[in-house]
Amino acid sequence: MFGECHAHIIMDGKNYKAAVSLHRDGVKDGPIREHFEAWQQAGVTFVRDGGDALGVSARAREIAPEYGIDYRSPIFAIHKKGHYGGIVGHAFRDRQEYRELVQRARREGADFIKIMISGLMEFDRFGVLNEEGLSAEEIREMIEFAHDRGMKVMAHGNGDGPARAAVEAGLDTLEHGDYLEQDTLDMLAESHTIWVPTLAPTGNLLGCGRYPDEQVEQILRRQMRCVRYVFEKGGRLGLGSDAGAYLVPHGQGLLDEYAWMKQAVGPENVPELDRRLEESEEWIKKEMKR
Ligand SMILES: [Zn+2]
Repeated sequence: MFGECHAHIIMDGKNYKAAVSLHRDGVKDGPIREHFEAWQQAGVTFVRDGGDALGVSARAREIAPEYGIDYRSPIFAIHKKGHYGGIVGHAFRDRQEYRELVQRARREGADFIKIMISGLMEFDRFGVLNEEGLSAEEIREMIEFAHDRGMKVMAHGNGDGPARAAVEAGLDTLEHGDYLEQDTLDMLAESHTIWVPTLAPTGNLLGCGRYPDEQVEQILRRQMRCVRYVFEKGGRLGLGSDAGAYLVPHGQGLLDEYAWMKQAVGPENVPELDRRLEESEEWIKKEMKR
């Protein structure tokens, strides 16, 4: 079984506010153990978390060996104040505060640095993000600083501009990456950046009734076409489901993600897809480690 390269153990796939609030007065092992059991049942032995502001993923990393799981955490994600990312980490206002957060993550034992460089998709409107994201210059500096401190970088990045800037700056793994344009896809395919396109959080919304299906369908189809394009150009792809996101349960979410990925590249390409996913996972295991 493949590893889960993008999960949020603090969330439960149902209601993130309720899931997060369980840990408000201190981290509770109960929900963490439930999620580990789900992964164990799915045969998952490697998990990379996206971090959180409450220390849940840090605690999870301590418990993981009991479940035979190699678990990696950035401890918390880093976002710019006033931008998306509050539920998964801490905010900086300027360059100095960003640097302090990177140093703090290192001190707290982060396996890698997780940064938020863009907003989220509006699932009821194809083509729309809830914010523009950070500037190219800022993104470049953020990645370079972490690299200079010997840390690999995982970036939440949607929208062409932020993703392009991050790939140009030598980003290690690009998460989501919805709405990329062809030039950026070409650059991504030729770079060493591993792309984790997280199809499940979109695909699993189909038929749920929360958003108009025709909008969700357009978002999903576009992303699947982009995955196929990068695949055909020889790019590096990683398997991560964003488990914990709405309708993406831990364990099952990864199986869903794999099914969407296979659909994206086409059945004839599955053996090569498997080879690439394994290669990416091996790289992450080896390099994104404290
Ligand atoms: Zn995520």
